[in-house]
Amino acid sequence: MRWSESCIPTLKENPREAEIPSHMLMLRAGLIKKLTSGVYTFLPTGFRVLKKIERIIREEMDAAGCQELLMPILHPEEIYAESGRLKSFGPELFKLKDSRGRIFALGPTHEEVITIIARDEMRSYRDLPQTYYQILTKFRDEIRPRYGVMRAREFIMKDAYSFHADDDCLDRMYRRIEKAYRKIIERCGLEYVIVEAESGYIGGNESHEFMVLAENGEDMLLSCPCGYAVNLDKAAARVSDGRRGEALDPYEEISTPGASTIEQVSEFLGMSEKGIVKTLLYKAGERNVAVLVPGDREVNDIKLVRVFDDPDIRFLEPLEIETVTGGPVGFSGPVGLPEDVEIVADTLIRDFEGMVAGANRADTHLRGIVAGRDFEIGRFEDLVFAREGDLCPNCGKGLASSRGIEVGHIFKLGTKYSSSMNATFLDDKGKSHPFIMGCYGFGVSRMVAAAIEQNFDKDGIVWPMSIAPFQVLLLPLNTGDETVMKAALRLEEELAGAGLEVLMDDRDLSPGVKFKDADLVGVPLRITIGRKIKDGVVELFHRKTGRVDDVAVDAAAGKILEIAGIKG
Ligand SMILES: [Zn+2]
Repeated sequence: MRWSESCIPTLKENPREAEIPSHMLMLRAGLIKKLTSGVYTFLPTGFRVLKKIERIIREEMDAAGCQELLMPILHPEEIYAESGRLKSFGPELFKLKDSRGRIFALGPTHEEVITIIARDEMRSYRDLPQTYYQILTKFRDEIRPRYGVMRAREFIMKDAYSFHADDDCLDRMYRRIEKAYRKIIERCGLEYVIVEAESGYIGGNESHEFMVLAENGEDMLLSCPCGYAVNLDKAAARVSDGRRGEALDPYEEISTPGASTIEQVSEFLGMSEKGIVKTLLYKAGERNVAVLVPGDREVNDIKLVRVFDDPDIRFLEPLEIETVTGGPVGFSGPVGLPEDVEIVADTLIRDFEGMVAGANRADTHLRGIVAGRDFEIGRFEDLVFAREGDLCPNCGKGLASSRGIEVGHIFKLGTKYSSSMNATFLDDKGKSHPFIMGCYGFGVSRMVAAAIEQNFDKDGIVWPMSIAPFQVLLLPLNTGDETVMKAALRLEEELAGAGLEVLMDDRDLSPGVKFKDADLVGVPLRITIGRKIKDGVVELFHRKTGRVDDVAVDAAAGKILEIAGIKG
């Protein structure tokens, strides 16, 4: 492939709309072009990468025993009413009307369509198991599309669905897909972790997310060298230094004038923040609740919403706090609260022997209070954010924090869709059961961005060899020089002939411009053909390490084939 004949519209400046490196670099390296907000064209170079990822996915899905099919993008709206998802999708579902006024949705996923196929085509346990997959464009009307193809309104996904007669069979397929996903990401040359998602939350259903590690990833993770990893929103805080404070009988009142924040109380009393109990008052539904957490911890709102089953849960206003507790903001505590205020404590509070907390009176705290004696805790719940250094539930070592990009998500759906859509099969006794289902998503276009987020430097993209748009870039410096071009053409023939994908920058531009573009586009191996060609020597440059070797032009192709793992 010749650069002069290709559409690789590189940009010198960073586009203003791009907030993260992959978005910026995909625009700058001419991989994508925006049509409108959240809608992109994959230009030829970007499409080469996309196709490579697709091929790896197809090979691994086929090897896992999945069958490829192609379902429609246009979905009659009724099927979402049938499954009950019309409401849960809400405005994210793209809708359109045909000329007869019938409403259609542009497919965001295909659980409904595939469940209809199973309902009509699979009648008996003898037809099971079956696993299908497809690679196609999905639509979601993101309120705020951003990050380029990372959070777009139109994107390419691989989605797969499996149907089983029993849970064990589903589990076997689930493990096979998990293995296939590992291989896909490894073959793409990327570092990743697998995190448990919502484990055991919906009646024993299992779900895992595959996260490509990247500094600018959207998801915050905690991970351990033992292999355990968890999304920060779901991680429970576990600590080793449990027992804090000293129980006093009776507890002691202490004057803390003006000390209304945890920081001020800790300073005033000369004790660490984690020894003080923070009492937060909320309105959950119609009730007032007091939430107790260690002073050095923050409440995770996602957990709060889940624990109290109220998406509108809110803090009490200062006036409400005075009415409920009798004391001003900043001096709330669990002792002496009205009986209708439920006290819910974070699990970390379980270890507190004697607590320091507000007295529900201005400028006063209590020291040495004991749960069960001085007040009652209604229940313990996981409420706070875990953080770096908290203990791994697997091996007990400290967790490290990192960030990731979700590229895959697998679910054991159970009978969620088959029940609501009445998709059943007959067992060996002629009895009818809903199908047991799994679904398995993989973000194909998102994977291109994720690969870049993990592999770039200040000059541009650094593609892993397996998904690079080209493996070799030939860079003749002076295209007017006959010896230079002769060597370039010969190398092109040798390398392309051996099956490598070669891009030759045959543009009549200054070496500076060509080197900049080469770094930006990030082809892993580069051969520069310059002045040394007089002595039969070219330069071999490794984009990842920056290493430069002088190589005899006669040996260059062989050397490259060796590095690329292809026998000459
Ligand atoms: Zn561990």
